[in-house]
Amino acid sequence: AMPLPELTLIVAATSKMGIGLRGTLPWTGLKKEMAYFARVTKRAPSPGTTNTVIMGRKTWDSIPPRFRPLKERQNIVISRSLERSSPTESQTVGSLPEALNLLSQQSKAFESESKIGKAFIIGGAQIYDAALELKQARRILLTRILSDFECDTFFPVVLPESGEGIGWRRKGQEALYAWVGESVSEEVQEEAGTKYVFEMWERDD
Ligand code: NDP
Repeated sequence: AMPLPELTLIVAATSKMGIGLRGTLPWTGLKKEMAYFARVTKRAPSPGTTNTVIMGRKTWDSIPPRFRPLKERQNIVISRSLERSSPTESQTVGSLPEALNLLSQQSKAFESESKIGKAFIIGGAQIYDAALELKQARRILLTRILSDFECDTFFPVVLPESGEGIGWRRKGQEALYAWVGESVSEEVQEEAGTKYVFEMWERDD
């Protein structure tokens, strides 16, 4: 049987785990944070591989049309209502298991020499929630926003500043560098008056 692809959730959240407001991000102006997201999700584990980003339909809608599909990544959108699309740069599937089947089919098609890179769950809350039920969702790349913002959408798991969550543990900066493939500052970042830090969490088991 095909091994299930490992999934990494990537999210920016406030200390109350707020991630969204009225269909968009609660904050603006975090350009370097968005650049980090782009670099990390694009960076392939080996030459000739392409990473995949999996998102909910509302998150897809929240991306300005000129920026989607997110370039240099395979985009998969999950929707119960949108029509299934034919294989193109962005594909729509009816559920998270269907998205994972698609990835398994692709690795099978490429046989042992897999061209399938890393698979990221990029939100929103509904899709994070579905992904967190799966064992193969082992890692969370969290940008912890240190300012408070009004939010109406929340990440389903609390990752406390202590570094010990229920079933989740924060890893050191070295482990983060090694996984993302670039050196990530452990200093507090500041842009547009908002402070934040880059973290990586893994399941406890
Ligand atoms: P999602 O992006 O998770 O999309 C929800 C949609 O996905 C549903 O309406 C449905 O689409 C589809 N869907 C959800 N679950 C399933 C399922 N089990 N099977 C099939 N389809 C499913 O929406 P949220 O409202 O949770 O999150 C969006 C918010 O999050 C926005 O404010 C966005 O800006 C924010 N966000 C923040 C991020 C951050 O890092 N801070 C990252 C990503 C998003 P349909 O209705 O078409 O059937």
